[in-house]
Amino acid sequence: MNIPLSVFWFRRDLRLDDNAGLYHALKGKHPVLCLFIFDTDILNKLEDKDDKRVTFIWQQLKIINNELKKYGTTLLVKHGTSSTVWKELISEKNITSVFTNHDYEPDAIARDENVKALLQKKNINFHTYKDQVLFEKNEITKDDGKPYSIYTPYSRKWLSKLNDFYLKSYPTEKFFSNFFKDVSNTIPSISEIGFIENDAAFPSNIPDQEIIKHYKEQRDFPSLKGTTHLSVHLRFGTVSIRKMATLANKLNATWLNELCWREFYQMILWHFPHVVSRAFKPAYNAIPWRNDESEFDAWCNGQTGYPIVDAGMRELNETGFMHNRVRMIVASFLTKHLLIDWRWGEAYFAHKLIDFELASNNGGWQWAAGTGCDAAPYFRIFNPYEQTKKFDPQFIYIKKWVPEFQDFSYPPPIIDHKFARERCLKVYAAALGKT
Ligand code: FAD
Repeated sequence: MNIPLSVFWFRRDLRLDDNAGLYHALKGKHPVLCLFIFDTDILNKLEDKDDKRVTFIWQQLKIINNELKKYGTTLLVKHGTSSTVWKELISEKNITSVFTNHDYEPDAIARDENVKALLQKKNINFHTYKDQVLFEKNEITKDDGKPYSIYTPYSRKWLSKLNDFYLKSYPTEKFFSNFFKDVSNTIPSISEIGFIENDAAFPSNIPDQEIIKHYKEQRDFPSLKGTTHLSVHLRFGTVSIRKMATLANKLNATWLNELCWREFYQMILWHFPHVVSRAFKPAYNAIPWRNDESEFDAWCNGQTGYPIVDAGMRELNETGFMHNRVRMIVASFLTKHLLIDWRWGEAYFAHKLIDFELASNNGGWQWAAGTGCDAAPYFRIFNPYEQTKKFDPQFIYIKKWVPEFQDFSYPPPIIDHKFARERCLKVYAAALGKT
């Protein structure tokens, strides 16, 4: 009989340090085999063969594997649906327990329920832990136990509960001698999983403390390097949220507040999963979106004639990233100026963003469209020209991404601002019964 093993299953926690599930696995009595599954249920939905996120994950697995070799082990990487892979593993190996970290997205919850049931049939324990957030599920609720839907009181409670207990690291390194000794696994090439390597340069996962210190003053100016670009790392767990929040606590309350927004949207998705396909506020499902396809294409391609919108979309198309201020402007423009369904914009971002994360993306889109919890009111319509004056007055960001831009006479806007604003007010007010 094979020797009894524990398995640690990596998902959106691609690091060895301060990893809750890995820590508990390593502390257990059986040696730990590390596993990653390139899940075809997820991969098959990706449109681009050179999807940047697949390259990012693949590169990260190689880094993890090199680290693991120092401890006499290697990462087992599988390709297939999670249920097929698990069935195969259970039949081949003597697995006693499986350890992993929580994932709060509806599809992931269903996947984990399915795997748990498979394991249970073989009397294999499935242990799961909180890792990617400081507070999860019902840890931050109103005094009556109901979930918050307004950010400010949520953030007050979140901040008041945040103490050393929640920020404490899991010292995995103390138990690295408990990996299952096996150096025979190799990481498949990216073509073996059906993809092509993208030559994108990914941001570093080492937080820039100077950026964090000056965050409050600089974060709204897209031409500055004023935000950390850690979103892709928080998304895939290539940094620990506990370490980032500890740093934020020390250096800058405004930046800590951003980490709180991230958890607010995770909490909303957990308690109100209907947001995945519908407006948080049901009345807003009645808005008659115009959904003009050629206008949508112009928006996607950065050809709307609104330089700040076009710069943002071109930054996104080229790099997989867009500055937060510009995300708000382009999202407001699509939903309010063009009256295109926020779900179209959300899906386009989901396709392109390297930091795409269901909860924050959905939250950001519903906020901009006015359909979300605690969203921008429907009558607040960003004026792209005013936003440019305030946040890119020298057109530095615009000129970087829209080199043909000279002044505001650059290709005529696909829609007049004043006309679009008034139309939006009328359409929203009528749909919401506010006329
Ligand atoms: P920083 O400004 O350095 O902030 C630090 C971290 O805080 C970020 O990395 C992120 O994890 C978190 N954060 C910051 N702002 C927000 C916010 N408004 N909501 C939630 N978390 C936040 N963020 C994503 O991570 N994934 C998405 O798919 C995503 N889609 C968005 C869609 C729209 C329409 C909008 C308006 C915002 C979206 N955001 C999303 C939030 C935000 O734009 C990005 O997190 C931010 O731009 C990432 O840059 P940064 O790492 O330099 O952030």
